[in-house]
Amino acid sequence: PPVALPIHDAVLGHAADFGERPALVDGTDGTTLSYAQVNRFHRRLAASLADAGVRKGDVLALHSPNTIAFPTAFYGATRAGAAVTTVHPLATPEEFAKQLGDSGARWIITVSPLLETARRAAELAGGVREIFVCDSAPGHRSLTDMLAADAPEPHLTIDPDEDIAALPYSSGTTGIPKGVMLTHRQIATNLAQLEPAVPTGPDERILAVLPFFHIYGLTALMNAPLRKGATVVVLPRFDLETFLAAIEKHRITGLYVAPPIVLALAKHPAVTRYDLSSLTYVMSAAAPLDAALARACSDRLGLPPIGQAYGMTELSPGTHVVPLDRLHEAPAGTVGRLIAGTEMRIVSLGDPGKDLGTGEPGEILIRGPQVMKGYLGRPDATAAMIDADGWLHTGDVGYTDAGGWLFVVDRVKELIKYKGFQVAPAELEALLLTHPGIADAAVIGSRNDDGNEIPHAFVVRAGTAPDLTENEIMLHVAERVAPYKRVRRVTFVDTVPRAASGKILRRQLRERP
Ligand code: ATP
Ligand code: MG
Repeated sequence: PPVALPIHDAVLGHAADFGERPALVDGTDGTTLSYAQVNRFHRRLAASLADAGVRKGDVLALHSPNTIAFPTAFYGATRAGAAVTTVHPLATPEEFAKQLGDSGARWIITVSPLLETARRAAELAGGVREIFVCDSAPGHRSLTDMLAADAPEPHLTIDPDEDIAALPYSSGTTGIPKGVMLTHRQIATNLAQLEPAVPTGPDERILAVLPFFHIYGLTALMNAPLRKGATVVVLPRFDLETFLAAIEKHRITGLYVAPPIVLALAKHPAVTRYDLSSLTYVMSAAAPLDAALARACSDRLGLPPIGQAYGMTELSPGTHVVPLDRLHEAPAGTVGRLIAGTEMRIVSLGDPGKDLGTGEPGEILIRGPQVMKGYLGRPDATAAMIDADGWLHTGDVGYTDAGGWLFVVDRVKELIKYKGFQVAPAELEALLLTHPGIADAAVIGSRNDDGNEIPHAFVVRAGTAPDLTENEIMLHVAERVAPYKRVRRVTFVDTVPRAASGKILRRQLRERP
């Protein structure tokens, strides 16, 4: 389908038609913004930002948890011609300063509880001209001040193919986070490509619990529902009881989550205390989701099978999704089918020139209009990722079945090489989670005494199973997998380290003393 450009027009082009319908609801205190307000506010903010000195091509750092003001700040900034780099609200001043320096940000929009971190980061990085706050803080211009000001709307021409709308940083799961340059057309096109599969309507109520700063939340919880006139109920962070209470109170219809939330929905006793009957579907993305766990969750909630989507920051972000009208027929464990206007190849890990057939796992390559413009300031990293023919090398291993459904095995770099065999940590993690005494688990390759790599599990015992032993765990796996996949070491931990998007930070486990 055709899509308006730039991104603020792609999303808010119809906002005036939705008028007084609720666009955003604060899940904590119920404060509501209508579509008319978001439309008016983001235009006024664009005018005030331009008046404050923001120029086309400037980078603006948006440093905020999910709030109802976040979309106004985001689209106001893009309408003023800025490229928005979204910042993790829990970033330390040092981490934030790195992102400011790397992205060359000249402006910050933050919230008062995070102001000290933003100030410190700006001092460390240098180059920031002004810090605005969404709420209010002495000595800083607030969004309210800026919405009240009577500045003229900026007249600028945005080139959708050249100008950067968003500069999100990848999750940093495999290395340092990289700034991903996404143009207006890349983001808007991907929205249009995904829309037929996940057709949100104006009567839907979506719960925004995943962070807007990550590309998944930005797309599935902000751009997509606001484009269609749905209501987005906003929560600042994930807390299971608050999340469940919000579903009940706001009669949420659709959930976009990551696997740790699926795990909680499948296993946590609190879930049964809430009325979740308004839900009609649950979609999961961003990390591997085990089929048995997905099934346990959908059965418990009395919902159709959980649908998955697959993508990455560098892909604006989507390439595969299980369409909502095919949840029942999609095979268990699939991340979906290739979306329109996108090409995929699966190539041999040993011989990257060789295309593989149905059922054969290899590296997933993608070509399409949603492939990023590049990593900011890292031409070498960009060239290593996107080849001369425009194929983006995802670093993920996957295969398709005869019906064209994609299955993601794991990341190429995470595969454990045990005696010449390849073992996918994600498969073992999923299997571990089927044990009732295991609350959470992660698997990495560790060296044993003779220097060989072995599958090593980090396990969080469930409260009901404080005495669960290493041997019981190893046996649970050994009974269910080929001998080369057996877990050969177990370490008990209190928590599994995860990124905001739900990904296991295996790097941190590897670096443990
Ligand atoms: P970095 O690139 O900085 O190491 P990252 O790759 O974790 O971090 P993201 O762009 O947030 O950063 O994540 C994309 C990755 O998430 C994909 O490459 C893939 O490994 C994983 N992923 C996304 N969706 C799925 C899914 N449905 N199933 C399995 N893995 C998924
Ligand atoms: Mg990545």
